[in-house]
Amino acid sequence: MPPTPALVRELAHDCGFELVRFGPADPGPHGQHFVDWLDQGRHGEMHYLADNRDRILDPASWRTGVRSAIALGVDYGGPRAELRGGGQVARYAAGRDYHRWLRDRVFALRQRLEREGVPHGTCNGGADAVPVLERALAVRAGIGFLAKSAMVISPTHGPYLQLAELLTGMDLPQDGPAPGTCGTCTACLDACPTGAIVAPHQVDARRCLSYTTIELRGFASPELREAQGDRFFGCDVCIEVCPFHARSPLLDVHGLDRPRDLQPHKVLSQWSLVEVLALDEAHYQREWVGTAMRRATRTGLRRNAAVVLGNVRDPATAPALASALGDEDPVVRGHAAWALGRVDRHHPALDRARTNETEPRVRAEIESALHGG
Ligand code: SF4
Ligand code: SF4
Repeated sequence: MPPTPALVRELAHDCGFELVRFGPADPGPHGQHFVDWLDQGRHGEMHYLADNRDRILDPASWRTGVRSAIALGVDYGGPRAELRGGGQVARYAAGRDYHRWLRDRVFALRQRLEREGVPHGTCNGGADAVPVLERALAVRAGIGFLAKSAMVISPTHGPYLQLAELLTGMDLPQDGPAPGTCGTCTACLDACPTGAIVAPHQVDARRCLSYTTIELRGFASPELREAQGDRFFGCDVCIEVCPFHARSPLLDVHGLDRPRDLQPHKVLSQWSLVEVLALDEAHYQREWVGTAMRRATRTGLRRNAAVVLGNVRDPATAPALASALGDEDPVVRGHAAWALGRVDRHHPALDRARTNETEPRVRAEIESALHGG
């Protein structure tokens, strides 16, 4: 006998999910939005999305016997997070790597369900790692409504939601959509620093700081560097301005009072932007393990640090930026040149670097920096 729907909910709550809803296992009409988004190239370099297009649109095609989805949500709201001395880190990435703790909870739930009689291997899922349209499943199951920011907003918990799902062979009664809409609000569209929300419900990832500071490899677009401001990893602007964000019960819970998985990772208090700029492989492997920030790669983190330093324009950081002009990584050298040009474009290190630099892309950054570009 499979567990009753009430027991499934109880087990999911026990495993750490505040929001538990049942819905269809496919994205339904949201699938076409996804196709259009891909066709417009708005996924940028996230090729795994295009590569898994068919599996995403039809989960039953790769997991036979799937009948319904258990949509799951965890509130991660909280205070602003930043590196020591500055450099904002998006709230979802400030604690232990959410891929790990969400997956742990999903796996724990699956084990509990199997112990209650669900046949082994008939529940599959994850968090941000399996090819499903997480937000579409969450919306269809009623975790929240699809907002103009393309986020899912829970009527009870607001928009700071980590989403996960279990695709299951159980026939679970569907909960239906959640109440709520954005109404006439356009706060996130107006506040987005890069104009990435190109229309209600449509985010162009190529302009979104949650993509450009994390998923993007190589050089950041010069046009977006200034818009990055002091955001070192990710961006919370469209959530911070959202009137629904106050619904997060965790918003005012700080430090060690927060749930263990959400407590700030120790790298936040131990590393400054200048130190990240010089982050070597040994420290990266030893100290940054277990944070979601590793998703950006060591090069990406150092690039992001340079961009923020270029926006903060503190003259005290000029020696560190000058030193980074001699780095072995061209991405770091290029962004250090851009940043030093903004901090002190007459710095002699820029002239020296122009003489020594062999990489065309970095040379162009140096020339631009020297000419106030
Ligand atoms: S995360 Fe930041 S950059 Fe991306 S859409 Fe939201 S406000 Fe814009
Ligand atoms: S800021 Fe306004 S428009 Fe944007 S998601 Fe929130 S309610 Fe919707």
